[in-house]
Amino acid sequence: MKLIADRLDRISPSLTIAMTSKARALKAAGKDIVGLSSGEPDFDTPRNVKDAAIAAIERGETKYTDVAGTPALRQAVCARFKADHGLDFTPEEILIATGGKQVIFDALLATINPGDEAIIPAPCWVSYPDIVELAEGKPVIVACDQNSGFKLRPEQLEAAITPKTKWFLLNNPCNPTGAAYSAEELKALTDVLMRHPDVWVFTDDIYEKLAYDGFRPATVLEVEPRLRDRTVTMNGCSKAYAMTGWRIGYAAAPVHLIKQMDKLQSQSTSNTSSVSQAAAVEALTGPQDSIDTMRVAYKRRRDMMVEELNAAPGLYCHKPEGAFYVFPSMQGCIGKTTKGGKAIGSDEDFCTALLEEEGVACVHGTAFMYPGHFRISYATSDAVLKEACTRIRRFCEGMR
Ligand code: PLP
Repeated sequence: MKLIADRLDRISPSLTIAMTSKARALKAAGKDIVGLSSGEPDFDTPRNVKDAAIAAIERGETKYTDVAGTPALRQAVCARFKADHGLDFTPEEILIATGGKQVIFDALLATINPGDEAIIPAPCWVSYPDIVELAEGKPVIVACDQNSGFKLRPEQLEAAITPKTKWFLLNNPCNPTGAAYSAEELKALTDVLMRHPDVWVFTDDIYEKLAYDGFRPATVLEVEPRLRDRTVTMNGCSKAYAMTGWRIGYAAAPVHLIKQMDKLQSQSTSNTSSVSQAAAVEALTGPQDSIDTMRVAYKRRRDMMVEELNAAPGLYCHKPEGAFYVFPSMQGCIGKTTKGGKAIGSDEDFCTALLEEEGVACVHGTAFMYPGHFRISYATSDAVLKEACTRIRRFCEGMR
């Protein structure tokens, strides 16, 4: 009898994690590697947040909590939604999970029946299609044009909806493109959803604090409150507070769905770490100025990356509104041969050769359901990014 379940044949390991591990292994083997593949802030977790965790340990808050999270954290999440978006939630409408990733997992596993469809605008974060597949659903990938800033147009959403559509998964700002929707742009999409009362919306707002030049990403419920009984709003501490390792994500959703997600979570991980939850209360309710510091740095890095990449032959880089990624096109390099003699026929060839010949680790666009591009995370120091740009330019200039 075969050991591994068939359901695992439907998914692959996260390609961003795989690339990051590969780069880490090459570095450990003594290779000079510049890693731009990881979606992780280079900043340290703010001091006040660390102190809150230490204080929680000292108080003995080291035991199981409610599956859905401590009352204090659920209250803090409600206060954050109110302050940021004017949204009123009660703690019963909130679930705390082991990262935003588990929120997605809980929501989709709790709702998708075999054959149910989930609309996913592409480029998309690597995990969405796989989690849908794991739940035996069908990812419906809708390609968004670079000329539309990689944003889904309302007519594309309308055309993708069928009687089998259960979910529309939106990521705003987006990983891997950094594209973010304003209130006006989002309203055009929610108008479509208002015509389809059976479709649920999952909005992954995990990068919402990271937007530049005064751009303010909107969230679904602030532009269309009538979607409240079929919207899951997801957020978390990983990106905004440089807390990836603490594993704090949260959802606001109708109580009947939260209860089912709670049931699922009670039979998998139970609560996320009690200490992390105490830290998250401080992150969400304490001083928010560390976000401003990070935002200033990310904006400077984004501007530098866009300028440098656009100066490399064969590349074109759209300037995104938010997150900490750029998603340049490498289509101008297809058909060429690198200095090291490698023929470039795809985005994967490009990223493999870039890693082998120049030691720069990026993730190819196909991993995000969008070939012909690659993703660079600029959540790393200016000096490292400068070095990366020098190498990428040399790599492109060396092609014939
Ligand atoms: N959503 C998006 C778009 C992401 O890029 C990530 C992390 O890379 C997550 C969710 C999950 O974040 P976490 O599980 O660390 O909260």
